[in-house]
Amino acid sequence: MFTRSLCGLMLVVVVASTLFAQEIAGRLPTVESLPDRVQARIEVRTRAAGNAHNAGRFGMQYFMFITKRWPNAASTPITVAFLGGDRQLRQRIQDTVTEWSQAGTLRFDFIDPASHTFREWSRSDTSFKANIRVAFDGSEEAGYWSMIGVDSSDPTIIKPGEASLMLQGFTTLLPQDWQATVRHEFGHALGLLHEHQIPVGGCDQDFRWEDDTGYVPTQDSYGQYITDAQGRRPGIYTLLAGAPNFWQKDKVNSNMRQLATDSHNKDFGAFDAKSIMKYYFDPSFFRDGTAAHCYSDENLTISDEDKQGIAKWYPPFGSQELSNLLKLQQDTMRQLAPVHNMQQVQTLQSIK
Ligand SMILES: [Zn+2]
Repeated sequence: MFTRSLCGLMLVVVVASTLFAQEIAGRLPTVESLPDRVQARIEVRTRAAGNAHNAGRFGMQYFMFITKRWPNAASTPITVAFLGGDRQLRQRIQDTVTEWSQAGTLRFDFIDPASHTFREWSRSDTSFKANIRVAFDGSEEAGYWSMIGVDSSDPTIIKPGEASLMLQGFTTLLPQDWQATVRHEFGHALGLLHEHQIPVGGCDQDFRWEDDTGYVPTQDSYGQYITDAQGRRPGIYTLLAGAPNFWQKDKVNSNMRQLATDSHNKDFGAFDAKSIMKYYFDPSFFRDGTAAHCYSDENLTISDEDKQGIAKWYPPFGSQELSNLLKLQQDTMRQLAPVHNMQQVQTLQSIK
């Protein structure tokens, strides 16, 4: 199945996307993807921010990342609410994401202080019931996906009645590797990005983007592109253009391509092949198959480098590290403020 993955040190970014969610026997998995309208809002902001003369000495990616970190996590829990799911499922998810909170100074709070039961949200909410809103119905977008960090409850990007983290189908049947999916998606919710999009990862060179020469588009009964009668294979653009993803080229690029190189790449650490944020890609996605640098088996657990990243970005309350991070984050947010306003205007114009 197509899985997830991310960063050596933490990343940055913007768009979350891509995970291969549901595995259906004999079929390509769906790639993790944010709802199009949410993605559009993020991209508008990203473009605007890229034009702002703010970034200063910080590269764009770093700049975006620092704004997505939960700023007060060391002292204030990150709240989580559910739409659907029984008590046992909610408890399992809570237990699993505790692995993240043990890696850094942060805590997830799942419990409504009034009822002493799991916090809940609904699609008719007009104010945010929680920072992270989990759903299982695939309403906004099918599959598994999560907003990146504070985007989860940023009113310029998402509404109180919208899910910020989707675990579609968990209420019907828990997938065998459900814990890995929960770890990956909550990694996004803390601000982590995909390993294959790290500027230093080198995955761009490994991926087999284009079809084999002379490939004749050939689809199976599911609408998936498959090897043609002469054994020529579809490339990534073609594979993802077919079922079950139906992605256009620009969407493939935003979800799969490496982030641009910038002066802060050195902060990202080396490519971490064991990261829970690293996707599993079928060998056919790579020029060199299983020998590709970016190929690895599916990662199911939070890696040591994942934990180091969380420890770095969520340091202890009262520490100098936290003080430095907060100053950097506040400075960056201040520079971004005009962009926020501009983004809001554009969002209003584009929402029907
Ligand atoms: Zn992901």
